Amino acid sequence: MDFYEFKEYSKEKFPYHGMRSQQEVLMGKIYECVTNKKNLVVEAPTGVGKTLSYLIPALYFAERGKRVMILTETIDQQERIVEDLNSLKHNLKVSFMMGKGNFFCKSKGEKANTLYCQLNKGCIYRPNKKPVCVCGTKKEKIEFDGNIKFYCPLCMCDYQKAKIECFDANIIVMNNTIYYYLKDEIDKKKQTDIVICDEAHKLEGSIRNAATIVINPKYALRRLRFMAYHYSNSRLRVHMDRVSEEEDEIFWTIVQDYVVKNAAGKDCKNSLVFDGFKITSFGLKEDVAILGTLLEGYNDIVKIKEKIEDLNENEELDKKDLKFKIDNKGLIPLELQFIADRRISDVPLVEFLENLGNLRNITGNFVVYKNNGSILCEPVLVSNYLNKLYGDASVVHCSATLGDLNIHAIKTGMGKSETLLLDSPFSKDRRNIISLSDGEDMKFNSTDFQSNNKKRNKANENLFKMVKAAKGNTLILFKSFGDLKTAHEYFLDAGYRGNIYCYESGMDGKAAKKLKEDFQKYGGLLLATGRFAEGVDIPGDALTCVIIDSLPFPVPTPLLKREQTLLEERLKSRKVKDAHWSAFLMTSFHIMARTVIQMIGRLIRTETDYGVVIIQDKRFNEWVGSEMLKRKYLKDKFLPMSVDTAEEYIPKFMKKMKEDNLKNSSFFK
Ligand code: SF4
Repeated sequence: MDFYEFKEYSKEKFPYHGMRSQQEVLMGKIYECVTNKKNLVVEAPTGVGKTLSYLIPALYFAERGKRVMILTETIDQQERIVEDLNSLKHNLKVSFMMGKGNFFCKSKGEKANTLYCQLNKGCIYRPNKKPVCVCGTKKEKIEFDGNIKFYCPLCMCDYQKAKIECFDANIIVMNNTIYYYLKDEIDKKKQTDIVICDEAHKLEGSIRNAATIVINPKYALRRLRFMAYHYSNSRLRVHMDRVSEEEDEIFWTIVQDYVVKNAAGKDCKNSLVFDGFKITSFGLKEDVAILGTLLEGYNDIVKIKEKIEDLNENEELDKKDLKFKIDNKGLIPLELQFIADRRISDVPLVEFLENLGNLRNITGNFVVYKNNGSILCEPVLVSNYLNKLYGDASVVHCSATLGDLNIHAIKTGMGKSETLLLDSPFSKDRRNIISLSDGEDMKFNSTDFQSNNKKRNKANENLFKMVKAAKGNTLILFKSFGDLKTAHEYFLDAGYRGNIYCYESGMDGKAAKKLKEDFQKYGGLLLATGRFAEGVDIPGDALTCVIIDSLPFPVPTPLLKREQTLLEERLKSRKVKDAHWSAFLMTSFHIMARTVIQMIGRLIRTETDYGVVIIQDKRFNEWVGSEMLKRKYLKDKFLPMSVDTAEEYIPKFMKKMKEDNLKNSSFFK
């Protein structure tokens, strides 16, 4: 392998006319890092064509015997990567591994469930030690990690098939969460040499979510009640049918009366016998033994629920507070039998019990607190998990919005890495970032509601003036739905005449997509929160103004506070000056700055796009903007100006851009 050979290869493989200079640089850098066994973090703005730029080196190395894993967040993106790979013509084996929920579980006749599959060890649709299948077919042999197993290519379920395909694939495309769960298993036969992570800004969050333990008794209690109803006789059900969903206590009193009357003091759960296929009982009637076991489970879980209810929101717990006493004997086989009877595959009760068991293994890296009726146990730093998963592979992270590349490398376990910041292929003159010097400071006071309302009103006034000045289709991004709602009301009261589209709390993906399409088609004003912004890709005149109402500093959750403290301690131990400030920059500031660049990035999606980004929050003008420039989150300078000046400047800028576009389009006719 030498660089000139690689250069020739990449030119030959490149499917279009004219490779961008950024693409050439990126391919060369990936080649250099992989051959020198180094890690690389790349920020490649929209329009660079980064997917092709990492797929061509991936193919090059895979054709020379290296195994490549490509990670990304969504199925759509995975499918696009596989399509792009196939368009490059090759003879390699490419596997595509989705999350288990996307597969059909043959055993259940329902969509697959991770926990159910784990528990269902004897499932005939997975590789096992029997060389002949139940369908009579001679099975294929598979060997990994010194173990020989057999599988039937006709009967095996699609999930197991996809996993086996990965064992000897040259290139595997999978999502971040699957990487966390399956990487070790998939790598048993053949180690991965190169890991490429696209949309790498999402990796840390995905791995944290995968490693988080959630204790929420609600669904386990609901399942217990369904099970109790299912195993009750018809006379008991008559009473149960009279009880509403909310009256849980009354429901379980009916069960208790029946059990007390019929069990005559005998231990119900020890009367149950599970032979691996079916539950039976001895010494007690089966329904009594089952209902008694469920009742005991209910009493234990209700105590946990009450304990959680007594906690304040965001209240932290110590590991020693997590010793919940629960005797789950009988409950797991009972739920497995219940789902087999009902032909369903979710197992909320088993999941709850498993999660309680997992609490035993949490380390000092976990922060535990109450959140929305659940106990959340979140790992503070995920760098260790990722570092372990990478193993000896060369790692390449790419994204359009990473912000500070060194901070990203530290937080995602890449350690000392090469960095590459690519220029946007679009002209910078076609976009202005305007920072309002007399905008409102959107840092709200938690007790002074009057001053908060005043601030909100002033901010709404500024937004209205800017929308009028921009005279184009405008996206306004808010920090919260509360702010969005008041701004919406303000615009209606102020007599805004155009269409207003509002993103709503809890809106599902389909409705959000429709909202974007309507805005793109009919134009007007789109009010949304920052989270929605990530999926906005509206080119041309359909979007010419983006306004950021408030800087999206994250809410200081126990997780964030702990992360800051941990980082500060580490920095202090390394005698880093201003450890507190540096820890703040690596956490809250990093999250805010990355969200701001994502928001700014919504405006220019193609070469002919133009427009203004207006930042209403005056903290940007005071210190945030310069800090973002200094730390390279922002690559373009911003224009500080007052609201009055912006009202004059924006229409002139927009007019000029429109005229330039018209000139250019008539020139090409
Ligand atoms: S192995 Fe069995 S239990 Fe697991 S998903 Fe496949 S069919 Fe379902």
